[in-house]
Amino acid sequence: MEVDTQLVHLGRPALGPVNTPVYRASTILFETLEEFERSAAHHRHELTYGRYGTPTTFHLEQAIAELEGGFAAAVLPSGLAAIAASLQALLRPGDHLLMPRSVYKPARRLASDFLAARGVEAGFYPPDCGADISGWLRPSTRVVYIESPGSLTFEMQDIPAIARVCRARGVVTVADNTWATPLSFRPLAHGVDVSLQAATKYLVGHSDAMMGTIAATEAIWPLIAGTIAQLGLCIGPDDAFLGARGMRTLGLRMERHARNGLQLAQWLTGQPQVARVCYPPLPTDPGHAIWRRDYRGASGLMGVFLTPNAVARRAAALRELVEGLQLFRMGGSWGGFESLVFPVVPDGTEAQGTYLRLHVGLEDPRDLIADLAAGLQRYERALGADAEGRT
Ligand SMILES: *Cc1c(COP(=O)(O)O)cnc(C)c1O
Repeated sequence: MEVDTQLVHLGRPALGPVNTPVYRASTILFETLEEFERSAAHHRHELTYGRYGTPTTFHLEQAIAELEGGFAAAVLPSGLAAIAASLQALLRPGDHLLMPRSVYKPARRLASDFLAARGVEAGFYPPDCGADISGWLRPSTRVVYIESPGSLTFEMQDIPAIARVCRARGVVTVADNTWATPLSFRPLAHGVDVSLQAATKYLVGHSDAMMGTIAATEAIWPLIAGTIAQLGLCIGPDDAFLGARGMRTLGLRMERHARNGLQLAQWLTGQPQVARVCYPPLPTDPGHAIWRRDYRGASGLMGVFLTPNAVARRAAALRELVEGLQLFRMGGSWGGFESLVFPVVPDGTEAQGTYLRLHVGLEDPRDLIADLAAGLQRYERALGADAEGRT
């Protein structure tokens, strides 16, 4: 089946209602002692106890496993919980973990704080290293973590090259594939062992639930499943239902996010106040060649550096810009139907000028451009007010 057909038909009941109902359950009752004793083994996707899931979660997990091309998949309470559970499953005291320098900041903190306190040493490699990852591996390296494109600065990674080197050396690869979703890129098909999504973003797609997903190869799966069970991680049935609801329209939404995203990125590139747009689908982006080679689509998330300006008025001008936006509302997360602006300075780019992360939603791009155009004019005016004030 092609992916658009999968999105419609995966994870649905064979009979009866179109959608899997919301099963609310902690206790599951058994008729016979034999069934009760069998339940103690917690066979995957058998109803035994609420913490191990119900058909609402089982169907969603089966759908995600197929979309990812994995042996199996699990749904977790957040994207960060999916990252944490995978790394806890794979790493032991004394192990070495490598992460790209552009990694999602809470994942970096997990590595340098929580995991470090439990005997795991973390190193950070340049995201553009490709096959040169071999130079960063140590005998104790157990996991190479990948995130492409990187958070905030959107560096593309040569995932096939990294996965090839790691597999040959017996190092496990884990990829955060949230930006692409399995519709644009399937890490497991490119030699990666574990594929993660912050499903909070595009899978749920409506900014109303938190969720993470883990899909893995058959060799790795038992470690992941065992850790999730031992840590007691599970999600509520309403959230699972929302994940399945979001999945049905994921293909349509991604197509529009990508189309709007490219249009906005191209428009931004031509604005005098804009120094650089970080968005791999742009032909001028340093990661464009890898994106074109490996990805079948894109999303609506990008970074924008404004032209460097005197630091004195920059904060005030940024405030004028973002507080006056009508459609790009200010807030964390992304991947919902709505446009968002997230004005944080990526680590190490403080000298590069004002930064905005934009999530381009499903609105009409003409309205989005008008909103940003007015914002850039407010920004320029606020900076100019300073020049006049000083003369
Ligand atoms: C948001 C995000 C996460 C974490 O997801 P939550 O559901 O918010 O915990 C992980 N990775 C990336 C790339 C993200 O953008």
